[in-house]
Amino acid sequence: HMRDRMPRVACIGPAGEKQALLANIISEVRAAGRGGAGAVMGSKNLKAIVVVGHKYGPDDFVYDKEKFMEAVRETSKLLSESKITGPRVRGALSIYGTANIIDGINAAGGWPTKNFQTGIFEKVKEVNGPSFGREIWIPPDSPGARPCYACQILCAHAAVIRDGKYAGTFDEGPEYETIWAFGPQCGVSDKKAITRADYLSDYYGLDTISLGNTIGFLMECYERGLITKEDTDGIDLRFGNAGALVEVVHRAGTMEGNIGKLAANGTKRAAEKIGKGSEKFAIHVKGLELPAYDPRAAQGMGLCYARSDRGACHLRPWTAGAEMLGLNGVDPRKTEGKAELVKTASEVFAVAYDSTGLCLFMAFGAPADKVYKMVNHATGFNYESFEEFVKVGERIHNLTRAFNVREGFTRKDDTLPWRILNEPLPEGPCKGDVVKLDEMLPEYYKLCGWDEEGRPTKEKLKELGLDFAIKELYGE
Ligand code: SF4
Repeated sequence: HMRDRMPRVACIGPAGEKQALLANIISEVRAAGRGGAGAVMGSKNLKAIVVVGHKYGPDDFVYDKEKFMEAVRETSKLLSESKITGPRVRGALSIYGTANIIDGINAAGGWPTKNFQTGIFEKVKEVNGPSFGREIWIPPDSPGARPCYACQILCAHAAVIRDGKYAGTFDEGPEYETIWAFGPQCGVSDKKAITRADYLSDYYGLDTISLGNTIGFLMECYERGLITKEDTDGIDLRFGNAGALVEVVHRAGTMEGNIGKLAANGTKRAAEKIGKGSEKFAIHVKGLELPAYDPRAAQGMGLCYARSDRGACHLRPWTAGAEMLGLNGVDPRKTEGKAELVKTASEVFAVAYDSTGLCLFMAFGAPADKVYKMVNHATGFNYESFEEFVKVGERIHNLTRAFNVREGFTRKDDTLPWRILNEPLPEGPCKGDVVKLDEMLPEYYKLCGWDEEGRPTKEKLKELGLDFAIKELYGE
């Protein structure tokens, strides 16, 4: 990769240039989607970063090539034989991408529909993995055709729309989150409109999760009469109006008119502007819009979102598999044990995947201790146990927390939207549930070695060798 002299590009689109708060950074087939990093680049007049490598290759860095390759082959074998990650055995992730979990999440009652008014989408069969696999992705019913560099799992699909008003659209995706964001979140089951909305988001450089969440929020405001056609520039923004959805994505990308600006800057800003009680169903944490798991159907996901360093992110960490898909048989309705589950997963994700640059989806086919072995042989760090390796994750977890505390975040920011804490799910296996955050958060802080305000204690920071952070937080 590094010696091939092909330039690699990470760039922003028109939305980033205009500093839309939902702007992302696109690099080839992937987006650094969440948190508005595209707006940061835009604010610095930085359009793109282009890298060409020619001097060094992986051989120049690997500590013990033979052992490293042995560990890679071992892991690779596990991945290719897995019923989830193996393309040759028609693994679910390979054939249907992340959309393979749609039916399971919907059956668990946690596929947020019409701005989290319920957790079951009645038209799920029209937008699930097999449906996209048959009708939208190319080649049909096959492993993904647009994978990331050198990936063997092949979860990422290419989509083509051949007829209708969006004919000629060639898209990469859409995957689970985007199908949700432009699908059930907006009450839309038209696969072509969802695909077109995904294509336009990539074209303009907008985060699909946050944008779909925001449009769903605006649809609810419209249906409740909190905004009118005057505010939407004449668009009939009802749930289920696929044409309106695509038009609003387009306007968000160009930040045209009232509705373009409202949509492009996210749910929190839109609710502040609209007011009239809309804050109660503005579905974000710390300004970051919730993704495609309703935490009322998975208490642990509620804790994930509430205390995550960057707000409602489905990767900081992800307990939905254990809670909603029965991967580890964890009861989604219980709060017991969730603090520990979230803490451990946060630390493992931080070191094994986020720090190595490996794809998290590996975890579906190979355990994280395989990563620890590869890291040892690649770097020569020689962690003596998996536990020692995960300690690095704990340091990361504490350091990001310390950063947030220094920047003024407090316990009151570790919360969830009003609807999620107060409005019970109306149907499904978790009918009647809200997230019982108060039962989990204090225990979580305690397990982490943080005080009642969620600040890492001096003792914890010292134990982790983060003495410099003590000075930053406590001035000593
Ligand atoms: S690296 Fe991960 S996200 Fe990319 S195609 Fe492979 S499995 Fe999918």
